[in-house]
Amino acid sequence: MVLLRNLDYSFMRKKMVEDLIRVGIIKSKEVERAFLKVPREEFVWPNIKHIAYEDTPLPLGNTGQTISAPHMVAIMLEELDLKKGLKVLEIGAGSGYSAALMAEIVQPNESNTKGGHVISIERVSELIDFARNNLERTGYSNRVSIVFGDGTLGYPERKEEMLYDRIVVTAAAPHIPKYLKIQLKENGIILIPVGNTFMQTLIKGFKRKGELEIHEVCGCMFVPLIGEDGFRP
Ligand code: SAH
Repeated sequence: MVLLRNLDYSFMRKKMVEDLIRVGIIKSKEVERAFLKVPREEFVWPNIKHIAYEDTPLPLGNTGQTISAPHMVAIMLEELDLKKGLKVLEIGAGSGYSAALMAEIVQPNESNTKGGHVISIERVSELIDFARNNLERTGYSNRVSIVFGDGTLGYPERKEEMLYDRIVVTAAAPHIPKYLKIQLKENGIILIPVGNTFMQTLIKGFKRKGELEIHEVCGCMFVPLIGEDGFRP
């Protein structure tokens, strides 16, 4: 019975990836490989595991937060242009799913703790435990650090250092937070939904000579980024 259930999930995962390739959302081998590897059923809330592979956001228990729809995560991963060895900061760990996918690209080797790494910040304490447990169970805890805090202030908070090759915000922001601009390395990429709490535009910023060069990717709908340099609680 257990074996049958596992087979079903890997079949559903493969089908999800094929669908995302067919519609042109998954384009690169790296993103395809990561989506085939990370088991989404281990990151959704346990009572809705059976719908883990529907292309829709799903609620994370009663926290009011959601795990993003697979197509949105795939769009973000493609836009981030991730490579082995990069240092990534994510704001909004939620379930830990997008962090695991990114880790699969920047650090494909589970036992290697050097090189690529993902730091993911979360402000809801219940989700810190949830994400950490999910990452531990699936073999990503060496490659992803889940940190409790207000990601609108960067990590470490309010530090004027350029630390990250990529910064990705998985919650809707009123503007690009100041410390995230500062903590992005030269030639780095920041991806962030900017707009109101209902609808946003996914913004991609390249850091060139200390300034962000801004591109609009697509429309999107995320839960709000709540914090000192985000929306007020
Ligand atoms: N990437 C997640 C989805 C995250 S949903 C996944 O793959 O499951 C957005 C998350 O951002 C929510 O969990 C929310 O609590 C968190 N969040 C909102 N404002 C934040 C802030 N200022 N700092 C850190 N996390 C924040």
